[in-house]
Amino acid sequence: MLHSNFSVPKILIVDDNADNLLSLEVALKPSKAVIHKANSGNEALRLVLKNDYVVVLLDVQMPEMDGYEVAAWMKKNIKTKNIPIIFVTAINTQQANITKGYNTGAVDYLFKPIDPHILLSKINVFLSLHRKGKDDNNLLLDKIEKAKTQLKEQENELELLAKRDTLTMLYNRLAFEIELKRIIAMSSRYERKSALILLDIDNFKWLNDTYGHEKGDIVLKNVADIITETIRVEDFAARVGGDEFAVILTEVQNDSDAGIVAEKLITAINNFDISVLDDYFLTISIGISCFPASAKNFGDLVKQADIAMYQAKQSGRNKYKFFSLEINNSYLRYNLVRNELVNAVKNDELFLVYQPIINLNTDLIVGVEVLLRWNNKNIGIVNPVEFIPIAEETGEIHKIGGWVLKELAKQIKEFKNMEMNDIFFSVNISPKQLLNTKFSNFFKEILKEYEINKDKIHIELTETNLGVCMEHSGVESFMETLNTMNLPLSIDDFGIAYSSFSRLADLPINILKIDGSFVKKMVASKKANTIIRSIIALAKSLNLQTIAECVETKEQKTLLIENGCVWAQGYYFYKPLKIEELKLILS
Ligand code: C2E
Ligand code: MG
Ligand code: MG
Repeated sequence: MLHSNFSVPKILIVDDNADNLLSLEVALKPSKAVIHKANSGNEALRLVLKNDYVVVLLDVQMPEMDGYEVAAWMKKNIKTKNIPIIFVTAINTQQANITKGYNTGAVDYLFKPIDPHILLSKINVFLSLHRKGKDDNNLLLDKIEKAKTQLKEQENELELLAKRDTLTMLYNRLAFEIELKRIIAMSSRYERKSALILLDIDNFKWLNDTYGHEKGDIVLKNVADIITETIRVEDFAARVGGDEFAVILTEVQNDSDAGIVAEKLITAINNFDISVLDDYFLTISIGISCFPASAKNFGDLVKQADIAMYQAKQSGRNKYKFFSLEINNSYLRYNLVRNELVNAVKNDELFLVYQPIINLNTDLIVGVEVLLRWNNKNIGIVNPVEFIPIAEETGEIHKIGGWVLKELAKQIKEFKNMEMNDIFFSVNISPKQLLNTKFSNFFKEILKEYEINKDKIHIELTETNLGVCMEHSGVESFMETLNTMNLPLSIDDFGIAYSSFSRLADLPINILKIDGSFVKKMVASKKANTIIRSIIALAKSLNLQTIAECVETKEQKTLLIENGCVWAQGYYFYKPLKIEELKLILS
């Protein structure tokens, strides 16, 4: 645009005499400028308003409007005030008039008769000024163009950054949302299948805390690279959360294709040697939802993949799961239990039941196992096998476990006041409670407050959880915790996990509770019976007591006595009893 204004220079010559105009025009020809002619002051003004002139040659003496008037008018007008004016006048013009001309804005004078050489040399000054202006202008234009390109590049870069995750350089959540919506629209228009894979690094928080954030970042980058290398170029990968990634598969033939990709991703991650993590075995969990089979819109697809991923985690991690109705129902149930559990203590929905533990030789009750029950107004009775793991996951276990101990302490005190039979109370403890530094003090305070002898309460920790505790806090430190608590300790569900014998000898354990699965099979299966005999022999050699769980038949009882087991519990003797029932039995 600006270039065209400066393309060919124009000169205006103004004279009321046509011959003068012609001779000026001829003289100016070598300048190669475009010559416009005006034969009056008025005509000159009309032209200067319409055109950009490099210079105006203005005759001073003209009828109606002379050169001075034209110049004065031009100086007042913003568009014309900077146009150079050369006055053309008679050689004998008086000095006073010449001065007047300069005052009105003349830059120079030419005297008639005009010498073409002088004319051209003066005109050339203005033409070269014009050219320089043009060059400067072109330079300016180039600069503007460059700045524009730079701006565009920066804009593109910003746009790219707005869509990218800066750590992994994969697309970010925003770009993912846009892309998934686009793919859904395309897939529904062309009746194609597509799938959403949500991928989450297992135990990433722990990994980050243990190895540090820098190494955590390296893991994230590596995982991003593995994803990019594993999927097809036409598929889309994004980092959609801290340790969560999404892959959109387009033009899927069968829904199961997404499973193949998921399997590839899991294997690639498992096989990858992330040196910064030493020998850590990196795993991921994957949830998949399919368009249009499981959902037809953005929100549902994401939610379903998320639910499926949660299920993959629940069922042991390093797995992938497709969203299904069954998965959905268990997820809904999980959420319901999780939400209601928060108010279980406050709403007084918990109560305890007590299952007597019998001396097989005397048939007398030696103790009871304390078992927790939850009766929720919306869900009904919920099994502890279902809600205890959820309470452990959400942290509610501290509140709930605390309630169990307090409630039990109240009962024990009441039993004492009523001078009931002298029995022990065996209470199940979650490793989450045991690993809490405040727990042992809390326990001690309760014993003190309710004046309970410490041998009155046994704590039960499953064999699996014993391993969890030692792994988490280190064997030495965990043994110290147990020693400080100095309570009788039973290892619950014994025989199904792996316990090192030497470790069992080191730990302050009092009782092994033989897992019910062996008791159930012991009559029919020689192998199960042998295992029970071995556990009893092991306990004896370590000076520990044994309790057989889940005794349901007379045959089991007989066989247990034969094997040398002294204590047992199970439906054959008593089901878990409400406190009133227990009081009746014991009184
Ligand atoms: P557990 O400690 O192994 O408890 C024994 C489970 O076997 C109890 O199930 C009990 O009712 C059941 N049972 C007893 N005798 C028989 C029998 O003859 N046959 C069969 N089939 N089952 C029998 P329950 O009460 O549903 O508790 C399940 C698990 O929940 C317990 O397993 C324990 O690990 C956990 N739990 C219960 N109460 C608490 C608690 O207060 N705190 C914690 N952390 N966990 C608890
Ligand atoms: Mg138990
Ligand atoms: Mg048990």
